[in-house]
Amino acid sequence: MFELPEIITLARQMNQSMRGNVIREGRLGNSPHKFVWYNRTHAEFADLTREKTIGEARAKGKWLFVPLDPGYMLLLGECGGKLLIHPAGSKPPDKYHLFLLFENGSFMTHTTQMWGAMELFEQGQEQERQYVKGMRTTPVELEFTPDYFSALIENLAKAEKRSVKSLLTQDQLIPGLGNAIAQDILYRARLHPRHPIDDLDLDQKMKLYDAIQFTLRAAIENGGRNDEVDLYNNPGGYVRLMDQHAVGKPCPECGEKIEKIQYLGGACYLCPGCQK
Ligand SMILES: [Zn+2]
Repeated sequence: MFELPEIITLARQMNQSMRGNVIREGRLGNSPHKFVWYNRTHAEFADLTREKTIGEARAKGKWLFVPLDPGYMLLLGECGGKLLIHPAGSKPPDKYHLFLLFENGSFMTHTTQMWGAMELFEQGQEQERQYVKGMRTTPVELEFTPDYFSALIENLAKAEKRSVKSLLTQDQLIPGLGNAIAQDILYRARLHPRHPIDDLDLDQKMKLYDAIQFTLRAAIENGGRNDEVDLYNNPGGYVRLMDQHAVGKPCPECGEKIEKIQYLGGACYLCPGCQK
């Protein structure tokens, strides 16, 4: 699934390769998929996208906002899989959930894994959509300061019991983070995924804050994770420290063997020496 670094990479590449393109034909998927969320019929989508121009794409959390000017906004969110630009004359994938053919002959396809939203709104209305409306501050915004982060933890801890993994991966408390990048953040912060947030001292909070910033910056600068592909179908350059490939290998810091545990609806990879 795409997380913030992949969404930021896709937005940047769309602005390099698609901005200003005029849509000749827009289609929803040729492959029915129960967990793709559409808000338009095939006919509406084709009508409303025809002759629209691609504006400046923007990333926020796990959502990609692509203006179709004049008047519309394509919203892609909570998705994974492949979002690709294809040169004129190339062969479309057999299965796709979204297809935009441009006047210059190039085309974009999106084929998601698992689930994902592919919705078209009148510009402005996308801000009212569930999960977009009221989205909390994302960690790449200037407002995501150490003070903001401390206050977020304090408020959440008052409301209910949570672990640091829950803080990083559930309910979009920190929008854009997900189970993949959370592994490296917790390793760098030296925190066990089950560590309760109400038990974090100031030093641990600041280590966690720094680990979020460091890990995100590294993943963004490297064009996303290497287990996802970018708009040009190339894998990203960020190699995770903690994933299935690390299991059983010695921790680079302390030499203990990396372990896998199941916790909160997914695998966690951790060093039992560093993350007690
Ligand atoms: Zn270790």
